[in-house]
Amino acid sequence: MLSDFLSLIYPELCYACGKGLVNQERCICTFCKYQLPQTNHYRDRNNPISKLFWGRVNIHSAAAYYHFEKGGKVQELIHQLKYKGHEDIGAVLGASFGHVLKKSAMYEGIDIVLPVPLHPRRLKQRGYNQSESFARGLAKGVGAECLTDKLCRIVNTTTQTYRSRFDRWSNMQSVFGVRSPDYFDGAHVLLADDVITTGSTLEACAQVLHMVPNVKVSIAAIASAKTS
Ligand SMILES: [Zn+2]
Repeated sequence: MLSDFLSLIYPELCYACGKGLVNQERCICTFCKYQLPQTNHYRDRNNPISKLFWGRVNIHSAAAYYHFEKGGKVQELIHQLKYKGHEDIGAVLGASFGHVLKKSAMYEGIDIVLPVPLHPRRLKQRGYNQSESFARGLAKGVGAECLTDKLCRIVNTTTQTYRSRFDRWSNMQSVFGVRSPDYFDGAHVLLADDVITTGSTLEACAQVLHMVPNVKVSIAAIASAKTS
């Protein structure tokens, strides 16, 4: 009731089209939601995102929710999420995609959702990691745990002592490390990212996770730039 009353004074607007939201709508109006170009990757094991990782790193399942089109609504939503401080978009899209993935055989038994960590310099500038709200939403949708401090960026800004703690679990090329690796033993881990382009960041994250025994790594992103 209170939120309905407040929305009369401060109407919440759709981040994609700018029109006022009604009733149960959150962040995106119903009209825009149905217009967003879904990839349906979650129905096809051999989708273009899966193929992107073939021969690079072992990925159980990979999918993007939407196609990223220049000048399109998905680009606008990502822009609002990344640069305008609207983290709630990530939560809404994550929960929605999570519900979709929960019904997909490709994503059975997800235990842990991990957001791809942001470079510390970026994190400082932006104040938040745009993949984190998406990861939290996904975890809620699939019924898994979201861990935001177990997969880390190891960069030269960290101290030597900090570095040595990760050495065993990070390879030479990777800037990523896994904290408390025992926690991941035998787990099906879902890596969450905003937009997939080359896949190299996700590849590096997955490689470091595969240093833990019996781990299964899958990927989910909000959008994928056209790969084919
Ligand atoms: Zn709209």
